Amino acid sequence: LSKPKARLYIDFALSLDGVAPLSQGQAHYLRNVMRMSPGDSVTLFNGHDGEWRGEIGDLGKRAGTVIARRQNRPQQHEPDLWLLFALIKKDRMSFVIEKATELGVSSLRPVITQHTVVHRLKDERLRFAAIEAAEQCERLSIPETCEAISLDQALENWPEERQLFVLDETGGGEAIASVMENAPGPAAILVGPEGGFHKSELEALRQRPYATFLSLGPRILRADTAALAALTCWQALAGDWK
Ligand code: SAH
Repeated sequence: LSKPKARLYIDFALSLDGVAPLSQGQAHYLRNVMRMSPGDSVTLFNGHDGEWRGEIGDLGKRAGTVIARRQNRPQQHEPDLWLLFALIKKDRMSFVIEKATELGVSSLRPVITQHTVVHRLKDERLRFAAIEAAEQCERLSIPETCEAISLDQALENWPEERQLFVLDETGGGEAIASVMENAPGPAAILVGPEGGFHKSELEALRQRPYATFLSLGPRILRADTAALAALTCWQALAGDWK
């Protein structure tokens, strides 16, 4: 059996011979973009019932159905890793969302800091980009996507058992490998905006027992580069690349 041409996230229960609805966008994509027809094979996942080989049932211009025929893989969860990132410009943001999803984050958490210049991100945009990346990279889950909140708010409600890795461009942080190697358990990575963190933010973060300051070396990285570099280190040293 060859691999189906399309892999879709379905927001609906998947079970043997169960029928699930397609969204308008998915119907359009299968019919007009992929030129597929009823009976063609597709791959399906919904974030809890594993991955299924399915087939297209009906396919209209705006609606359609798929039928789950055989489970390919049982459900697996991504490691428990959050990414907190200060909002940045649209195209760089889309890049971070796509790559962070591929790199296996479980939660995408935009934050607003004092030097953040971008203050708006459409929630659907975040979720849509995460779904698209998850479909493409064969994940079995979609990362949780959260509304943007202020850094202060994020810290106020912080779950204490979760380690917070603060990417500190001011040079005071510890070497990332030696810290992450010895840090199993729930984690979060915090990346500042293009303007960097405000002094008072770094001071407030330093007071938090769960925060560890990390350095990514002597060069100043763009926020998107810093996010991906840190996620990569975590996956290699503490995550599911081991
Ligand atoms: N404008 C700032 C740089 C901000 S870079 C300045 O010139 O000082 C954007 C974010 O990327 C930073 O807030 C930090 O979280 C991360 N970052 C960039 N380079 C880094 C480095 N060498 N080590 C750790 N974090 C870094």
